[in-house]
Amino acid sequence: MDDGNLAQHSNGFHRNGYHPVLVLNHDYEPLNVCNLRRAIVLVLSGKAEVLEAYDRAMTSVRERFDAPSVIRLAYFIRRPRPKVKLTRREVFMRDDYTCQYCGAKTSDLTIDHVIPRSRGGRHSWDNLVSACRACNHRKGGRTVAEARLTLRRPPFEPRPGRYYTIQRALNSHVNTEWLKFIPDYEPLHRSSNRD
Ligand SMILES: [Zn+2]
Repeated sequence: MDDGNLAQHSNGFHRNGYHPVLVLNHDYEPLNVCNLRRAIVLVLSGKAEVLEAYDRAMTSVRERFDAPSVIRLAYFIRRPRPKVKLTRREVFMRDDYTCQYCGAKTSDLTIDHVIPRSRGGRHSWDNLVSACRACNHRKGGRTVAEARLTLRRPPFEPRPGRYYTIQRALNSHVNTEWLKFIPDYEPLHRSSNRD
């Protein structure tokens, strides 16, 4: 089977050759997104069933069927709760794009180590905050107290949202036929700041 022959753009198919497939657990809980080839392996091996298909026929050695768009696993899998990846953007999102010292809401943020790295501060959720350029400059290599600043709240590791894994896999693209399986889905919030 060669999904490279499915390059035509149609009903959610991407021209770039990436055909995302939504994977549901046996209890219909959205798990993640996989590529078409992986989904087909799961379906042909009996490990998943097709719930929605792209409007695109595929031919395998054995049979002809529509390319899956949403599949459901034939068995229930347990998975550890995903952890939010520690990136600049995720820190900004956790802090609601607000400087944690002066409270300014801006897209022009920097990352500040609350305990400076030069003092042994770690690069971890509980030591990183969003800071506007002015506050970051004022703080420099000093501690919060030394710089006479105040943290609005202690930094913490955020809990991943229900669709965190899917949001990260998809960026902003969601096929409309998926929406009934992922109610209240919101694409990952984007800002001008890059990771
Ligand atoms: Zn500030």
